[in-house]
Amino acid sequence: MKQRMHQPELETMSRDELTDLQMRRLQHLVRYAMKNNRLHRERFKKAGVSPEDIRIPADILRLPAMNKEDLRLAYPHGFNCVDLSEIREMHMSSGSTGSPIAMLYTEGDLRQWAECMARCYVMAGCEPGDPIQITPSFGLFNGGFGMYHGARAAGLFVIPTGAGNTARQIRLARDFGTRILTGVVSYGIRVLEELKKEKSELPELTIGVFGAETFSESMKKNLENGLGLEAFNIYGMTETGGVGTLGQDCPDHSGIHVWEDHYIVEVLDRETREPLPDGEEGEIHITALTREAIPVIRFRTGDLARVVSRQTCPCGRTHIRISPITGRVDDMLIIKGINFFPTQVEQALMEIPGVHPNYQIIIEETHGVKDVRVHVEAEPTVTGFTVEKHLKERLGFSPKGDVFLPGALPRQEGKAVRVVYRKMDD
Ligand code: ADP
Ligand code: ZN
Repeated sequence: MKQRMHQPELETMSRDELTDLQMRRLQHLVRYAMKNNRLHRERFKKAGVSPEDIRIPADILRLPAMNKEDLRLAYPHGFNCVDLSEIREMHMSSGSTGSPIAMLYTEGDLRQWAECMARCYVMAGCEPGDPIQITPSFGLFNGGFGMYHGARAAGLFVIPTGAGNTARQIRLARDFGTRILTGVVSYGIRVLEELKKEKSELPELTIGVFGAETFSESMKKNLENGLGLEAFNIYGMTETGGVGTLGQDCPDHSGIHVWEDHYIVEVLDRETREPLPDGEEGEIHITALTREAIPVIRFRTGDLARVVSRQTCPCGRTHIRISPITGRVDDMLIIKGINFFPTQVEQALMEIPGVHPNYQIIIEETHGVKDVRVHVEAEPTVTGFTVEKHLKERLGFSPKGDVFLPGALPRQEGKAVRVVYRKMDD
């Protein structure tokens, strides 16, 4: 299954070439960050590390890791390495886990973003001139503009609808023959619901590029069957430069290729912070090798995944493959001694015939004791009892299950809010 590629010579470099390039770039990055940024300089000094210490891949462990809190404290541009006159754009995280973080872009950073995104589009099978409908908002959230910059670089025909007004989105998709739909995973579901309501289809639609949220395998199948497209899982975050900077799965769907000429991926144990062997799930850390304004170094993403393979993929690409993100470290819920992630609930719910892909997990706290209630939309034939029984079988504990008619639960613009906390005793 050899495939058209956006940058074939870079996407198929041998593993040795990739490692060599990464080491050269990492050493350069340390020197660059030290020279141009006071915070990095202080951090490296404290860790007793200098650019000459970075020779082999394991030397990355000598560099101090950074997390969201470090970036928040440095708001607005404490980690910036370039003169402010060189900044051309900014974006901010959606703030799903706290106050937002600002990312600044030079002309070079915008080019790098567009390049990574364009690789993803071409990997999904997009061809020049293909109509692409971009459904995240065009604003501070990086999704809309990232998808735009990449689509321009890949030569696609941009339909920049932005967020909301799903009926109009569908009309435009029909009028202009949208072939590629892109957005947050839960928006794909919205489009699907609207089509069902209208009892119509979008026959031209063949490719879905969805990201920004975890999605279970069954949710993905739901989208694929319902919208009649092949769904791709695109990965990136504000701190690494936005959507698609890290990578996406290819038509082999055997993991997310991370663009290793631009980024180093580490999977570390969540507690000990030691590197884990390939195949074991841990916290993804990212080093951005080629970004100019704010290159993160050993950034603790909070995302959990494992390395699937470093071998050449059937698609011909050599870049590492990681599993889909199963959750965020801070998403994990502990209820009555049982640990679980919202995606596990999602997976279990989607297995129940008649259940629709819109749900919320309500954590009810009464005098310090937490209980779980799952709200889900479903056909009238599905009862709360069916939901509770299936969740018990799959998760090993018994949340209460409340069933609502399709369309009854709240919907958000942007990322879906899947977990809601409620204090019951005040
Ligand atoms: P935040 O949501 O932290 O405010 P961003 O808007 O930058 O900030 O979103 C980045 C985060 O979104 C990632 O760290 C990850 O948790 C999640 N994310 C992005 N893409 C995916 C994906 N394909 N699968 C699962 N989670 C994703
Ligand atoms: Zn591949």
